[in-house]
Amino acid sequence: SPVCIGQSVVPLINKLQDIFSQLGSSSTINLPQVAVVGSQSSGKSSVLEGLVGRDFLPRGSDICTRRPLVLQLIQTSRKTDDKTEIVEWGEFLHAPGKRFTDFSLIRKEIEAETEREIGSNKGISEKQIRLKIFSPNVLTITLVDLPGITKVPVGDQPSDIEARVRTMILSYIKHETCIILAVSPANADLANSDALQLAKQADPDGSRTIGVITKLDIMDRGTDARNLLLGSIIPLRLGYVGVVNRSQEDIFSNKSVRDALIYEENFFRSRPVYHSLADRCGIAQLAMKLNHILVQHIKTILPDMKARINNQMVTLAKELASYGELTDSKSGQGALLLQIITRYSQGFCAVVDGKNEEMSTS
Ligand code: GDP
Ligand code: MG
Repeated sequence: SPVCIGQSVVPLINKLQDIFSQLGSSSTINLPQVAVVGSQSSGKSSVLEGLVGRDFLPRGSDICTRRPLVLQLIQTSRKTDDKTEIVEWGEFLHAPGKRFTDFSLIRKEIEAETEREIGSNKGISEKQIRLKIFSPNVLTITLVDLPGITKVPVGDQPSDIEARVRTMILSYIKHETCIILAVSPANADLANSDALQLAKQADPDGSRTIGVITKLDIMDRGTDARNLLLGSIIPLRLGYVGVVNRSQEDIFSNKSVRDALIYEENFFRSRPVYHSLADRCGIAQLAMKLNHILVQHIKTILPDMKARINNQMVTLAKELASYGELTDSKSGQGALLLQIITRYSQGFCAVVDGKNEEMSTS
């Protein structure tokens, strides 16, 4: 089934992405991933948290996401009976080997690492933070949380903040291999949506854009999101999903993701206007839609990735040959990379050719 293909191929892609990121940042974002875009405070980080099912991202009514966060979710197996064994943890590329089992410390570390790079006064940077989350409860997928669009510079932000953030966002979503979650709040006019405008720019025919409508709970009294979700306001090929994330009050009172999901379910259940739209309502529906789209997407881009890996191998082989003897550490690294890439490229080709479904990704 397609779900199986997704599960066997995506861990490999995550691994490849790690390898590519060591080779130079420009090649890291060519691989399939999911990015959230939209205006500041539209609910992007909240949507990602809902998809992951854990609390760990800085969220709030001010600018919280100030550097791109590349988040690799890695599904681990559930086979253990040992209740004391730690099954969920996070690890940052900038702190290798350090396992974060307390997710609130992950949030603190994202904030600390943001400040290390750009200080505490609202500045932004395009330098990535890379985080892996290992858990039996996630889909294996790579997500990117991005700073949101703002119009007026504050704090240490440059006068051209809007243009800069747009360029940064576009550098991620312009790639054919990026699936765009275009996040717009239901309590603002969709015709003014920065998310849809950016998505349209990067993906004019809408073949890889999912519309996400947040804040259905705080719409103007007497209105609902039915027409938004049906796509009657602004049509979108892959459609829309409406969600209810935690409010700022919920964040202050430490409402859990679990309680938030229950609240969301009750929200949709208790409003008849959404009953006939059940497949477009709720974070769980968004997760399912995403998984399906991702699997289709990977199928179409596999041949191209195979070619790209082969090219990279040829380049590296040449580079390696130019080093001659493997004496200094740089050439040692080159050899190691070549070895790793060769191994994964072989495994990758095996998957592409359908010879090896059960390939190990460790
Ligand atoms: P981002 O800047 O786009 O990443 O937005 P955040 O996820 O940080 O959310 C911004 C603010 O909006 C926070 O205070 C959230 O609690 C709030 N928020 C996000 N989604 C919803 C929602 O669906 N309903 C309500 N009531 N508040 C939301
Ligand atoms: Mg954010």
